[in-house]
Amino acid sequence: MTSPRRFDRSFTQQEPLPDAAIDAALNVLRHGRLHRYNTQGDAPAEAALLETEFAALTGARYCVAVASGGQAMALALRAVGVSPGDRVLTNAFTLAPVPGAIAGLGAVPVLVETTPDLVISIDDLAAKADQAKVLLLSHMRGHICDMDALMDLCDARGITVIEDCAHTMGARFRGTPTGRFGALGCFSTQTYKHANSGEGGLVITDDPDVAAKTILMSGSYMMYLRHGAAPGEDVFARHVASTPNLSARMDNLRAAVLRPQLAGLPGRVDRWRALHAAFLVGLGNAARVPAPEPGAEPVPSSAQILLDGWPGCKIAALIARCAARGVELKWFGADAPAGFTSAHQHWGYIAPQDLPQTDAVLAGLLDLRLPLSFTPEDAQLVGAILADEIRADPPG
Ligand SMILES: *Cc1c(COP(=O)(O)O)cnc(C)c1O
Repeated sequence: MTSPRRFDRSFTQQEPLPDAAIDAALNVLRHGRLHRYNTQGDAPAEAALLETEFAALTGARYCVAVASGGQAMALALRAVGVSPGDRVLTNAFTLAPVPGAIAGLGAVPVLVETTPDLVISIDDLAAKADQAKVLLLSHMRGHICDMDALMDLCDARGITVIEDCAHTMGARFRGTPTGRFGALGCFSTQTYKHANSGEGGLVITDDPDVAAKTILMSGSYMMYLRHGAAPGEDVFARHVASTPNLSARMDNLRAAVLRPQLAGLPGRVDRWRALHAAFLVGLGNAARVPAPEPGAEPVPSSAQILLDGWPGCKIAALIARCAARGVELKWFGADAPAGFTSAHQHWGYIAPQDLPQTDAVLAGLLDLRLPLSFTPEDAQLVGAILADEIRADPPG
């Protein structure tokens, strides 16, 4: 078999913003009203229009645009009443902003185990359900668990669910968009997610009181009636005096570049699915990949492979060989956090927790980005190089 070539494209290069987004940004820059409450007459701000459009896209009643995905989660936790000292269930396998949002308000993350297919363990969630009243569910790397089973469990146990949809904008479970199962859904529009405004976040909910509190906390001063998909004045009247301003607003420049991207989301979803399918063709049967839950319709903007039982030294050597051929892999089983990747043992601000199932899965978990700057041929070549190097020096 001839060895596939070297890969020479960047795993961190996103595609350029669409012309419509660039034109919209220039328009905002020319009029200079970047702050979302700096409006003229009755004309709605770009941020308010974004909220209206994202609510319509997801089917939510209310939407709040905020400064980041992390801020979206931080406000969501407060909006459902999480207080310092409260325990909050969350995935053991996720990225640092998730436990960070919990710890940041003085609450205590209770980590839930991970299945071999990279979703939250519903069995472990059931075992820990009496420890907390809130679950911050992370659809980490776009893997969606059985949402019917999860919601049945949480409803039965009186657990409020907040969904972290940083990796699932455009994804669904049995036809329902992620973010629409729990009380709130939190999205990120940071450069590496499914819409790119550099930084940014969106919160959706159907609960008018939760929406009003989130808007007030986001830093609306007395301008809360200038929001896009917001509840009525009577709802704000219940909360305005008692809700702190945490200043986490989105500005009009970012909203302007996001609006055309939302319109183009279905096309990008299809392209990510094509990239991931091509990657799998290249990989062949060289390694296990997580099986999607029946009913899940993910948006695979990254790929994960599982080298079950491989010793760490073999994985480290594989990563080095792939890197030498231009294939950049991230490893959740590494001893030290690297780049954006960390594991629960590295979150030194929370008490260590015993998660043997998660540790066994993460030990062999490799992760790579599939940016839309790649062609399907690129993604297939990446898979083929990985397969080639996996076969070059398998364990034992
Ligand atoms: C990126 C990310 C977030 C938060 O997004 P930011 O906008 O970067 O704050 C939340 N959860 C996960 C799993 C993420 O990867």
